[in-house]
Amino acid sequence: MRSRFFRFLLTLSNLTRPTPFQAAPRLRNTAPPLKSMNIPFLSALFGTSAPSSKNAMTSYPDQRTPDEWRAVLSPEQFRILREKGTERPSSGAYDKHHPSAGTYACAGCGAALYEARHKFASGCGWPAYFDSLPGAVVRHEDRSLGMARTEIVCANCGGHLGHVFKGEGYDTPTDERHCVNSVSLTFKEEGAEGGGEAGAEGKAGESKV
Ligand SMILES: [Zn+2]
Repeated sequence: MRSRFFRFLLTLSNLTRPTPFQAAPRLRNTAPPLKSMNIPFLSALFGTSAPSSKNAMTSYPDQRTPDEWRAVLSPEQFRILREKGTERPSSGAYDKHHPSAGTYACAGCGAALYEARHKFASGCGWPAYFDSLPGAVVRHEDRSLGMARTEIVCANCGGHLGHVFKGEGYDTPTDERHCVNSVSLTFKEEGAEGGGEAGAEGKAGESKV
């Protein structure tokens, strides 16, 4: 009697079970793909809502177009700052330029990049700095020309400055060499930007080759 009733219950549950059982895995199977589809889909939406064709430039406050840059830069400045060119060694105006004070600013946007006290005589043929003003310079991995180098650009406009090299043994506080094109720079006499302490520690970097 009791077992019959129990069996009845079992049969009932067997009959009814398939529905919830099938439903559950189906839900479980469909839910994750939906979720994982949503994330790239959303990010794609966000990606394309920003200026789509110039991803590399989106992080710089100064977003001038190539045409706008061409209007304010000389052809040589455009080639180096906007097309990542390089000036011939020992040809630049600031290669052997060692003022005791003042600021080197981006020749494109005018943002202050280096102070005179950061400059040292590397003998490499380009202006060399062992450090920049805080946050003024952004580094990117550069794998062009079959080399792994670190490109440096102006943090305000993305203008190409040169490359930074580390651990070369220069007697400077950082043992880094920001190798910068003179064409990418404009020197401003003391008082332009960045306060009046420029030159206070100048001796440190000026001593070696
Ligand atoms: Zn700039």
